[in-house]
Amino acid sequence: MKSILSYFGYQPSLERENKFAFIIGIFGVLQLLSFLPFYAFVAKNIILVIETLIVLFAYMLVFPLFRKKRFLLAKNIIVFGFMVQVALLVLIWFPKETNFRYYYFIVAPISFFIFNFGKKSERTYIIFINLLAAILLIISDILQPLELLAISSSFTKAFSFMSLSFTIISEMIVFYFYAMNLHDTELSLKRLANTDALTNVANRRVLFKEGELFFHLCEDENSSFALVLLDIDYFKNINDQYGHPVGDEVLRILTSRISGFIRKNDLVCRYGGEEFAILFKALPNDYKRIIEQLKENIESDPFVIDNEKIHITASYGVVDCHHTFESFSAMVAIADKMLYKAKEAGRNQIKFYE
Ligand code: GH3
Ligand code: MG
Ligand code: MG
Repeated sequence: MKSILSYFGYQPSLERENKFAFIIGIFGVLQLLSFLPFYAFVAKNIILVIETLIVLFAYMLVFPLFRKKRFLLAKNIIVFGFMVQVALLVLIWFPKETNFRYYYFIVAPISFFIFNFGKKSERTYIIFINLLAAILLIISDILQPLELLAISSSFTKAFSFMSLSFTIISEMIVFYFYAMNLHDTELSLKRLANTDALTNVANRRVLFKEGELFFHLCEDENSSFALVLLDIDYFKNINDQYGHPVGDEVLRILTSRISGFIRKNDLVCRYGGEEFAILFKALPNDYKRIIEQLKENIESDPFVIDNEKIHITASYGVVDCHHTFESFSAMVAIADKMLYKAKEAGRNQIKFYE
């Protein structure tokens, strides 16, 4: 299936709009093919069959254009081909009662869906195409169609039902996918805004958001938490000795070490360059022991990068919410003070705020 799709120009790496254009192109071809037997065997109208085959041929051009990455041209053929076909059916062939002109209503959602708003040239097409669809719709309402297709009243009713339901369903599908896409985009933007690009853990923004929340919970209820600020000792020397990329790798390994020590609900985040913060939530009695174990692990188990064993140590400033503070920011300031004391006292140690 994948190789057939890629033969027709589909690639998983295509931009979202182009992917949808491709799907709508296929849908258009299937739609034209499904009408052909009716024109040929029920209506027995050879001119209508030829005309539909010409539109079908134009539609088939979309796929080689996709292969050549001529997306804008392909998308124009999809929308204009659709409008031309609807215009011909509405003005020449189908009786007015079949309500074929409703199909013009599909143009707006489709065009908003398949053209890229980020590109000025494509934005212009959206306006132009929708204006054209509106004009065609008005013309089809004013003019009396030639109604060359002689069909029974039951067929007329069936086509009217189809026009209405197909228009509504396709609008629903398009809007549904559009909303889903918007939702996904929102989620990934949120993730980006809350994640540190180098280490993939939470960033400072999340620390303060969650910290404030837990600070108030600790004030109101019987919950507890502790904040640890951790700063790598003499990290500048590691960069100088091994280079910046190795320094980066040390930061990545350190975050995964810390993540291995904390529970699922606790939070580790990159506070600054080589400084990390840990929020221990629902404080266990032995949380001080856990921090000591983390320190022991970091100092005794060297980080192996490119077959090189790199020894690092860190200093820790710790504060828990059992003391009275004005705000979470005040707690952070105290943790920072404790960290400074740990550095001053010779590094590779933990200072708890008592
Ligand atoms: P101290 O024990 O006093 O903390 O000494 P230090 O060398 O760790 O502290 P200092 O603040 O002097 O230097 C921090 C260094 O961390 C300097 C900066 O180049 C490095 N650093 C900050 N962010 C990154 C990063 O994303 N990647 C790498 N490789 N290095 C970073
Ligand atoms: Mg440091
Ligand atoms: Mg620092």
